[in-house]
Amino acid sequence: MITIDHVSRRFGDGPDAVVALDDVSIEVKRGEIFGVVGQSGAGKSTLLRTVNALERPDSGTVTVDGTVITGLEGAALRQARHKIGMVFQHFNLVGNRTVSQNVEFALEAVGVKGDERRRRALEMLDLVGLGHRANDRPAQLSGGQRQRVGIARALASEPDVLLSDEATSALDPETTRQILDLIKRLSGELGLTVLLITHEMDVVKRICDSAALMERGRVVEQGRLAELITTPGSRVAAELFPVGEPHRIPGHSIVDITYADLSADRPVIAQLARDFEIDLSILGAAIENVAGVQAGRTRLAVPDASTTQVLTALRAQGITAWEVQAPDVQAQEVTA
Ligand code: ADP
Ligand code: MG
Repeated sequence: MITIDHVSRRFGDGPDAVVALDDVSIEVKRGEIFGVVGQSGAGKSTLLRTVNALERPDSGTVTVDGTVITGLEGAALRQARHKIGMVFQHFNLVGNRTVSQNVEFALEAVGVKGDERRRRALEMLDLVGLGHRANDRPAQLSGGQRQRVGIARALASEPDVLLSDEATSALDPETTRQILDLIKRLSGELGLTVLLITHEMDVVKRICDSAALMERGRVVEQGRLAELITTPGSRVAAELFPVGEPHRIPGHSIVDITYADLSADRPVIAQLARDFEIDLSILGAAIENVAGVQAGRTRLAVPDASTTQVLTALRAQGITAWEVQAPDVQAQEVTA
């Protein structure tokens, strides 16, 4: 549905130039919720803005639903943009218009007239649970309600794609959850494809099907969450399951195991310890609801002599298991 193909974008020239996007390629499938995570300055907003051509790449192309957005100008571009809604961190509502007029504004832009415009705006507000606040001013609403208006406005022109730039970053955790659940529900009901950017892993955990991790303008990892969480060494997975930095333990290896679906939980570790008559210590564990399933990671200390045997036995049961390398510098801390 959205194909970002080898896109690069640089700001400025010479030694002060910033490479905001460095050969980025991302594929977002129809109907999925795709999250781009990364720290501030990673290039996330610039990337999102290339999708509705608010930003033009220096090279590469962006295609949305078969249309090469990067090649469009004028009326054709405006037309294509109506199929792409966008929500922002700070809502960007017009203060001296009512809630309904803010949504109608988006319909004006696509040429919907008079009563029909009002009717459609109310319909959108009902969809986000704010029909009863149509005649209020944005200032009379809470942050979460304002973002609901932002979402109603973004969806008024019946887009196929919703872009979200840190839509929940200005909201408290409970309101964040409500807004994320709303986006998830709407994407299902309306068949929307959602590309959202965030610096919060919790957002990805709660609603995304797929994710990409950006760092200094590059995508360093991407894929379906269900796959990333069982990919050894995945940094997205490491952030989803915070089991801490590995520390070296003399005479032991550190083994991480991941369960993609805990409904298949078995007393794996106790069983292994019994079968091989070894001491397995649990160094850390995290269980999270990721992409709609209960997934988990456990970190074990395994005696060096048994590591190969343990890895083989775990893998034979269909469990993803791998040895984690602890940095040397920490060995001194542990032995000291
Ligand atoms: P993020 O959204 O991940 O925080 P941005 O895409 O906003 O990152 O920015 C990526 C880099 O590009 C940053 O170093 C930022 O300062 C720079 N940048 C973004 N937009 C512009 C611009 N219009 N002019 C100059 N530099 C910019
Ligand atoms: Mg940003």
